[in-house]
Amino acid sequence: MRFSGLRVLKEGLSGNKGWQAHWRDAQPKPAYDMIIIGGGGHGLSTAYYLARNHGITNIAVLEKGYLGGGNVGRNTTIVRANYFLPGNSEFYSHSLKLWEGLEEELNYNVMHSQRGLINLFHSDGQRDAFARRGNAMVNQGDDAILLDKAGVRKHLPYLDFEQARFPIYGGLYHPRGGTARHDAVAWGYARGASERGVDLIQNCEVTGIDIEGGVVKGVRTTKGPIKAGKVGIVVAGRSGQVAAMAGRSLPVESHILQAFVTEGLKPVIDHVVSFGMGHFYISQSDKGGLVFGGDLDFYASYASRGNLPMVEHVMEAGMTLMPMIGKAKILRSWGGIMDMTPDGSPIIDKMDGIEGLYIDCGWNYGGFKAVPASGWCMAHLMATNTPHEVAEKFRLDRFRTGINIMDEEGTGSQHNLH
Ligand SMILES: Cc1cc2nc3c(=O)[nH]c(=O)nc-3n(C[C@H](O)[C@H](O)[C@H](O)COP(=O)(O)OP(=O)(O)OC[C@H]3O[C@@H](n4cnc5c(N)ncnc54)[C@H](O)[C@@H]3O)c2cc1C
Repeated sequence: MRFSGLRVLKEGLSGNKGWQAHWRDAQPKPAYDMIIIGGGGHGLSTAYYLARNHGITNIAVLEKGYLGGGNVGRNTTIVRANYFLPGNSEFYSHSLKLWEGLEEELNYNVMHSQRGLINLFHSDGQRDAFARRGNAMVNQGDDAILLDKAGVRKHLPYLDFEQARFPIYGGLYHPRGGTARHDAVAWGYARGASERGVDLIQNCEVTGIDIEGGVVKGVRTTKGPIKAGKVGIVVAGRSGQVAAMAGRSLPVESHILQAFVTEGLKPVIDHVVSFGMGHFYISQSDKGGLVFGGDLDFYASYASRGNLPMVEHVMEAGMTLMPMIGKAKILRSWGGIMDMTPDGSPIIDKMDGIEGLYIDCGWNYGGFKAVPASGWCMAHLMATNTPHEVAEKFRLDRFRTGINIMDEEGTGSQHNLH
């Protein structure tokens, strides 16, 4: 089923009776060439690119809940390529390029909106750090413009520029940054993978990983055992738990990140804005809701709900930056489980000492924008057994050797500081 303007018109005039389900509801076969554990953004894009780029279609994606029910459908949808360090820089640059062609690629409206991202800075030191980041972005081939206070005021006149405690000195403007519709990204990849023959199996929790003589043989699930030549663990906040099924511990801690959305308002915020002094970021959805979030709840947990002190902290930051939002009513808030690494950068690698087992995790709170490139690179790794060139530095052993640690924030090796 192809989507087009003509098709929408035809269906509209004929009672919308011709639409088909976006993917087959598959039941597990006894064996596959490859199994992907986790039907989030990264798992689905991995399956899609395995089929599309490598012609491997005898694959199952096993999802314990429903497709897109994890963090891929719970985030604040910011898409950007504004990383500083080699390793991250080229990876996120590649990802943004994939985003820019994603709707045509998937024939699916993922509502990718390049409305521009402005990271505000509030001191000379922060300005210098953002100037360096901007230069790194430009060197990587991405876009960055350093704005002074007047420049920011032109884009974001509604901010509180007279704030004595956190004055706005300027901002780093990334015009190609923006947002996308999170569920649609999961659905688009699911549809594309299913069309190419991938089995998407929902309500199928992996409960064990079978390994014999150091070689992966398959998985045990709530729908019975399934054999596979290769298995990819792509379960975001549950990475530690699933890796433990293979007897491995990961340098990952799970922490909660909350987000909030207000009632629908007329268009008022037409960029993505982040507040450098309070860890607050905001955009407005196409439905009109203000979508915003802040810091992690600073303790490890697998509960996908957050606590009130962080709610208060985020609201304070929002009110400090743009008091005008104080009148908007919060409709709902939610929390997701983040797979935090000690350096804040991800892992796409083979699992040490177990042939045929691969891991894609450590997306911290920034893995939505990584969905296309993560799938691309994980598929490359699983198909060829070699890392893709833009994910070469995402090695697991950097945490053992200390070589190639990518502490993007410069905050030190602690999971909850990134
Ligand atoms: C509030 C919030 C705001 C965020 N904002 C942004 C943002 O603005 N920009 C950005 O880039 N990133 C953001 N993120 C981060 C981003 O959402 C995540 O990094 C990313 O979605 C994680 O990858 P995923 O989509 O594959 O995860 P998920 O969607 O969580 O997928 C993992 C899947 O694995 C399944 N699973 C787990 N265990 C098993 C098992 N045993 N068997 C079978 N299936 C299993 C889960 O059910 C889940 O569906 C945010 C996250 C949150 C929570």
